[in-house]
Amino acid sequence: MSDCLFCKIAAGEIPAKKVFEDDDVIAFHDIHPVAPVHLLLVPKIHIDSLAHATAEHQALLGKMLLLTSKLAAEQGLSDGYRTIINTGHGGGQTFFHLHMHIIGGTPLSTHVSEISTQ
Ligand code: 5GP
Ligand code: ZN
Repeated sequence: MSDCLFCKIAAGEIPAKKVFEDDDVIAFHDIHPVAPVHLLLVPKIHIDSLAHATAEHQALLGKMLLLTSKLAAEQGLSDGYRTIINTGHGGGQTFFHLHMHIIGGTPLSTHVSEISTQ
């Protein structure tokens, strides 16, 4: 996927404010944060969206979910945080490489629709 922004960030071809990286995933600050902390957690392999994930990605997806608490703690989000995966055009996805938003640092509404990444 030579044309994919998150593949390029994962490959180090486009710079990002990286906070974590291992063989499977990379996490970095969103370029247009909607809250004081707004990270993107991205698998290094290209998966178009959550709807394109399959059973072979089960461990990777579980790893990503479990990583959020570590990343949030490192950002000082001791009071909690929100995770968002926008899926498909109808779900508000604008970059078609699966990614998880990790958002916090300000009181968030209990209404999930009240915080947008756009
Ligand atoms: P989506 O709407 O697909 O769920 O989220 C895409 C996110 O990527 C948006 O929050 C947007 O601000 C972020 N983004 C777009 N381009 C860049 C970029 O070049 N660098 C970084 N760090 N984030 C980006
Ligand atoms: Zn990609």
